[in-house]
Amino acid sequence: MNRSPLHGKSKRWHWQRTLYLTAVMLLIFSFMAWPVNAWMESPSELHAIAKLQEPARKDRSYYEQRGDIVWEVPSAGKRIALTFDDGPDPKNTPKILELLKQYDAKATFFLVGWRVQKHTQLVKRTVSEGHEIGNHSYHHKYLRRGTSLAVIKDEIMRAHRVIEEVTGIAPRLYRPPGGYYNENLVKVAHANDYRIVLWSWHQDTKDWSSPGVQRIVNKVLDHARNGDIVLMHDFNDRSSQTVEALKVILPELKKRGYSFVTVSELMTHRVKAHTNR
Ligand SMILES: [Zn+2]
Repeated sequence: MNRSPLHGKSKRWHWQRTLYLTAVMLLIFSFMAWPVNAWMESPSELHAIAKLQEPARKDRSYYEQRGDIVWEVPSAGKRIALTFDDGPDPKNTPKILELLKQYDAKATFFLVGWRVQKHTQLVKRTVSEGHEIGNHSYHHKYLRRGTSLAVIKDEIMRAHRVIEEVTGIAPRLYRPPGGYYNENLVKVAHANDYRIVLWSWHQDTKDWSSPGVQRIVNKVLDHARNGDIVLMHDFNDRSSQTVEALKVILPELKKRGYSFVTVSELMTHRVKAHTNR
């Protein structure tokens, strides 16, 4: 085989040029292909675009704008909704009912299903005195993200049946224990004609943690504004603080011109109709 130096040099030049051109072309192609690869590697992103840019994080503003969950009710009138969770309780609920009557106040009680079965007369009395009953699940189980639709539905509907049986009224408001909410909960609530109700962030009295009567009072009075939903508890070890705090809160807010209404009534006074439900 003829391997002249000239021939070898030309061959080497040809090889180098081919390599160079290939490298340049590869570079160009990789630049051209990059955005395509980026899309292909991110099907979830494509999915999001297809779903009209649904937000990645479904937080308060997302659910509030859709009307799925209520935190408070933008309202022109001086109305406040007091809410009491975890009852009924034979020790504290009657004391709270007496105080509410004294100040011509209506409130909403988010009841736990198994406790309703235990104290049916107290629940009937609560309804007969004009208060609203909300559903607070059957076992007070925390329905965290990942809880199946079946478990959520069972917790809500078991309590629903018990409350309806005792009061003759089908509750329409649901407050999740611990305030945990997620997409599955919203789905179950929708399917069963329920509205999820939480509370104004500035009206979380934390009365369950025994903060002292004055702190409960200050929390409510210092931040009170139209359309607030106040969170309290009629069943817990320290509910006596709640009762004592109400003795100050009710007359003071009444003096300021507020009236106390149920959550359902408060919702009828919404000023900004930003939901389609
Ligand atoms: Zn609770």
